[in-house]
Amino acid sequence: MGGRITVAGAGLAGLFAALRIARAGHDVEILDVKSRIAPSSGPHTEALRDYVGGEALEDLKHHGFDLEPFGSIETTVRKSESFENVLRGRAYHLFLRGREPETVDQELYRRCEDAGVTFTFGTKFGSDVKADIVATGPPPGSFNVLGAGFTFSADGSNLDQQTAYALLDNNVAPGGYLVVTPGIEYHSIYSVAWGELDHDRLLKMAEAGASKPWVKDILGSSRRIGRIYGKAYFAPDPTSNAERGGTRYVGEAGGFQDAIAGFGFRYAVLTASLAADSIIEGKSYSALLRKTFGEEFAAAYAVRKKLDAFTNADFDRLVQSMGPSMTVDEYRQHRASRFL
Ligand SMILES: Cc1cc2nc3c(=O)[nH]c(=O)nc-3n(C[C@H](O)[C@H](O)[C@H](O)COP(=O)(O)OP(=O)(O)OC[C@H]3O[C@@H](n4cnc5c(N)ncnc54)[C@H](O)[C@@H]3O)c2cc1C
Repeated sequence: MGGRITVAGAGLAGLFAALRIARAGHDVEILDVKSRIAPSSGPHTEALRDYVGGEALEDLKHHGFDLEPFGSIETTVRKSESFENVLRGRAYHLFLRGREPETVDQELYRRCEDAGVTFTFGTKFGSDVKADIVATGPPPGSFNVLGAGFTFSADGSNLDQQTAYALLDNNVAPGGYLVVTPGIEYHSIYSVAWGELDHDRLLKMAEAGASKPWVKDILGSSRRIGRIYGKAYFAPDPTSNAERGGTRYVGEAGGFQDAIAGFGFRYAVLTASLAADSIIEGKSYSALLRKTFGEEFAAAYAVRKKLDAFTNADFDRLVQSMGPSMTVDEYRQHRASRFL
């Protein structure tokens, strides 16, 4: 069917776009600058947020994403310097990223191979190469969110498999949060920051977060395993510039990233799916993006501008406003659900 489709970048978005197109009967090639499939950020747990629109996983399944999460978060503890709110109910689905066989990256890679996708590793996409889909992650020099932290062994730690923690504190994650999420054999702790984009400085802040007494209790006698380090990129209006010169930009290469909290998993999968649809069905990618996302990015960007100016006193007020405990249903109705 048709000519060969070229996808640049074998991250979450590129792999899923290639899979969709190959399953529709096209000949697909993926190129990646790396020598193998591996997220640049190191192995870590990623959370697919479920409470904002509800049924996030069903939405992805509807787009052909058939991987199962390894677990879910049923209790989310949100902290600021002086307050704490506990969110009860399923708020996130959990996926592993990395080099291990059970990670999303390797599962998608196997599915792509089964569907006949050809991989060319060690090849850099540039202006001399024509690609139908560009999925090369944050454009060089354009990142505006940074993650830094480490994984620690489940063995010895006191982290419950269904509980996640987020600390809103400019001293440990300027403009963002320190997060602790469970994995299978190892768990993740990292700072996600909008206001500190130097890795060494942010890592020191994450270390300071890790030495807080309640975090030390969670870490218990676990040992450190690996480094988490990742750049992310969000554009204020990504849909306006995602199709140019016959090329579709997906995932973070197109600036598709949640400006509020840094959740890019859903956008990587959905934009990949829409780019695939545009090729398979001969539709306009830009029109599909506008129909699917509407004003979502503009609204998120406006909230992000406010969050950038938040002090720790503002974070305290935000967490205090949610009370000590609420259910996911109550949270959906709550004003603060636009923020976290
Ligand atoms: C530490 C960390 C934690 C995160 N946690 C969450 C979370 O909990 N929930 C959530 O929703 N999101 C999370 N995210 C965001 C999410 O991981 C990303 O938004 C998503 O993976 C982006 O996928 P992508 O395919 O667009 O880009 P990438 O995954 O960056 O893939 C880009 C690929 O392109 C390749 N490449 C780059 N340049 C070139 C080139 N010139 N030529 C060829 N190949 C190239 C790279 O090697 C890579 O394989 C997190 C990100 C990080 C870093």
